[in-house]
Amino acid sequence: MIDKRKFYINGKWINPQNKNDFYVINPSNEDSYAVISLGSKNDVDLAVKAAKDAFVEWSQTDKKIKINLLEKLLEIYKDRWDEITKTMSDEMGAPLDWSSSAQTASGFDHIKDFIKRLNEFEFEKKFNNNSDNFIAYEPIGICGLITPWNWPINQITLKVIPALATGCTMILKPSEIAPLSGMIFAEIVDQAGFPSGVFNLVNGDGDGVGTNLSNHPDIDMISFTGSTRAGKLISKNASETIKRVCLELGGKGGNIIFSDSHKEAVREGVRNIMSNSGQSCDAPTRMLVEKSIYKRAIEEAADEANKIKVDIASKNGNHIGPVISKTQYDKIIDLINSGINEGATLVAGGPEKPNGLEKGYFVKPTIFTDVTNNMRIAKEEIFGPVLSIIPFEDEDEAVSIVNDTSYGLGNYVQTQDKKKARRVARKFRSGGVYINGNSADPGTPFGGYRQSGNGREGGIWGLEEYLEIKTICGWE
Ligand code: NAD
Repeated sequence: MIDKRKFYINGKWINPQNKNDFYVINPSNEDSYAVISLGSKNDVDLAVKAAKDAFVEWSQTDKKIKINLLEKLLEIYKDRWDEITKTMSDEMGAPLDWSSSAQTASGFDHIKDFIKRLNEFEFEKKFNNNSDNFIAYEPIGICGLITPWNWPINQITLKVIPALATGCTMILKPSEIAPLSGMIFAEIVDQAGFPSGVFNLVNGDGDGVGTNLSNHPDIDMISFTGSTRAGKLISKNASETIKRVCLELGGKGGNIIFSDSHKEAVREGVRNIMSNSGQSCDAPTRMLVEKSIYKRAIEEAADEANKIKVDIASKNGNHIGPVISKTQYDKIIDLINSGINEGATLVAGGPEKPNGLEKGYFVKPTIFTDVTNNMRIAKEEIFGPVLSIIPFEDEDEAVSIVNDTSYGLGNYVQTQDKKKARRVARKFRSGGVYINGNSADPGTPFGGYRQSGNGREGGIWGLEEYLEIKTICGWE
């Protein structure tokens, strides 16, 4: 049993104030293989005090010193790449090679890109040449950073690195379900030599540490990635103290496939939703197919889903792993059954376990056709390898179905008509649009409209989230 019951507070690994053990489960075999502690208000208070004390100096520390420390952190991250990869694979079920090429790589890319943005960022400037006013960007203060389990290091680096870069101090609470990669990350911050108290880690659950961070009077900002359910609670809990709350929440992405799409469009859409076992917030979970190619699309989608292998995460190979937990597994199976009961047609997968994988939280890549947008599978975020295919007549109908959701994170469009693609992209009510399978470049902002959240992470937008803006009159 791996014992990781300590918290990282004020530059030291210390025991929690109250003993409260919590076991980490490997979703590939359901074994409890590590123990952490769930923190309490006392642990949060201690970490906040450390962050508050450290803020005095860190907020004034020269940019060059920060860049040197971040470059050291990047080097150590690279040295510990395989360990990070294996840890994420065990805790959240990403197949080993994909854990490396997607999960660990995303953290590396974010650290590298934020160093570049920090180098370029102007923290102070004259308002304009005819004015004696001066604009200064200053760190917002003490930050509570709350992250999910589905892209653990990706989310941690998207928050911790810009917070460090801008001169904030922080308390990180990784997901209690996949906390171990976050603890390696804390070791890396420690090894890099950041001053004590700048970065602190307290493990815990939402009701305990999450709530105590959200309502803490000495915390100036919460950056949260996770479910819309928790995002609403955090906003309520934070309201008394008027702190900044940046939310990156769920999604229910649409993927419009027009009849003139390139011939791999349907298969690509299927592979995209099944990746990470369907546990990505911006996954294209609703595929809208133009009626003239609907029959062909169904055949291709079912064929592609049946080709995707499901297996344990500790293997290399072009497969998908389990979903994260029993709770998540039960929720996905319930939604698959709801699709069957509400009259959608099941053309691949289904609620049974894949052959030979009785133990572990494995779900078959599942495809429903003849879905209508009022069915639960079209409305709710499933967060599993389940795709709903919906037919449409014309562009207006397709766009209106895609936008008919409370979410607005990532939407997709496939057509060879550039004008149409751009027109549709601008009509989508979402923070991201992916035309013909193109992906976002490092440094672009990521975030949602509506109930997908209000924040933007990545690039200069990711730095600005952690900054206050001050106008100084009479500077000259
Ligand atoms: P979750 O909301 O259950 O948990 C996320 C984190 O919030 C965990 O650390 C959890 O302990 C904490 N938490 C839970 N309740 C809380 C509360 N009341 N107060 C404070 N903290 C609380 O989400 P999850 O199941 O870990 O992650 C999956 C969700 O995350 C999905 O909805 C997914 O779409 C979303 N997500 C969004 C993005 C994005 O950038 N928009 C990225 C990844 C994941």
